[in-house]
Amino acid sequence: MARVAIVGAGVMGAATAWQLARRGHEVDIHEQFLVGHTRGSSHGRSRIVRLAYPEPEWVQFAEEAFAGWRELEAASGERLLELHGLLELVGDPATSSRDALEARGAEYELLDAEAARERWPIGVPDGWTVLFQSEAGIVRADLAWQALLDVATKTGAKLHESSRVESLAALDADVVVVTAGSWAGRLLEPEGIELPVKITRETVAYFKLDGPPLPSIVQLDPESRGHAMYSLRDPIHGLKAGAHHAGPETNPDDDGLPDLHLLDSISAWVSETYREADPKPLGAETCVYTTTEDESFVLERHGRIVVGSACSGHGFKFAPAVGERLAALAVA
Ligand SMILES: Cc1cc2nc3c(=O)[nH]c(=O)nc-3n(C[C@H](O)[C@H](O)[C@H](O)COP(=O)(O)OP(=O)(O)OC[C@H]3O[C@@H](n4cnc5c(N)ncnc54)[C@H](O)[C@@H]3O)c2cc1C
Repeated sequence: MARVAIVGAGVMGAATAWQLARRGHEVDIHEQFLVGHTRGSSHGRSRIVRLAYPEPEWVQFAEEAFAGWRELEAASGERLLELHGLLELVGDPATSSRDALEARGAEYELLDAEAARERWPIGVPDGWTVLFQSEAGIVRADLAWQALLDVATKTGAKLHESSRVESLAALDADVVVVTAGSWAGRLLEPEGIELPVKITRETVAYFKLDGPPLPSIVQLDPESRGHAMYSLRDPIHGLKAGAHHAGPETNPDDDGLPDLHLLDSISAWVSETYREADPKPLGAETCVYTTTEDESFVLERHGRIVVGSACSGHGFKFAPAVGERLAALAVA
């Protein structure tokens, strides 16, 4: 039985705490703010979940995470996943997740722009292709974050809110798991551990969209093959939308306001893409990305310290699987 201190009770710290506590380890979670705060990366009502990734290993990782969400739903009694599918809008079908899904034996459909416009009330650029994948939609992020902490504390983990860790060396524990999001780098540096990440403040906006839930949408940038714009169901207003990796570099301790230029481009994209949405934003907020060069996750152990940096704007969906891997590293 190990004594583990977890620094940061965002979705990654919460998921790790549950995996360690249910295996009987002694777990203390230190959070500098109160759970539910909006200063980091895990706040908000919804996040996209999807299997569709351009690489088979990411599809497999997402499959693991889906199983973890189902386990959490069973353990918490909460419905967390709302699966209405995903639409990947691409200029060239070869840049879609088609090949990786095929390699994993996951079902998908490819539709041309006209067929997609007939099937969903959406706008698709002429000549583009739409990949539809059904194992996708949203996770109720606020409910999931709370459910992870609830099951973790019910299985014995201790949560210390308003408890900012200044030095990892000062923590009285056998192992320290650092899931401190965009603050992780400055905690790790004194321990001689480098975390090569870029920290940006991203803007998301909410729009009025009535009617039955639509699939989440990711529109790929033909040049970078990365996501340019994305949108998903918001349980209150109907629609949440954002521009991926578009925000300015930031210091996580700074207060930040939504970027008005980004808000205009998000609103313009919503008016092109959603025939039935009101493109006038009902609200907007910021959220912080902690991004590695290739958008992979840093899940490593360095002596007594386990590093868990899983973001790059796409980490939430993987939280249950990240929690498993960090817990395994902590007791290895
Ligand atoms: C705008 C936006 C949209 C996104 N959309 C999606 C999506 O659709 N799908 C998806 O899968 N992912 C998405 N993500 C990514 C996902 O939300 C993140 O990967 C995930 O929330 C990261 O969680 P975390 O626990 O690592 O970080 P955080 O939630 O930031 O947690 C870190 C915690 O550590 C605490 N902390 C830091 N330093 C200390 C200290 N010294 N002492 C004590 N506590 C400390 C912080 O207060 C914070 O609570 C999105 C992210 C953003 C910003």
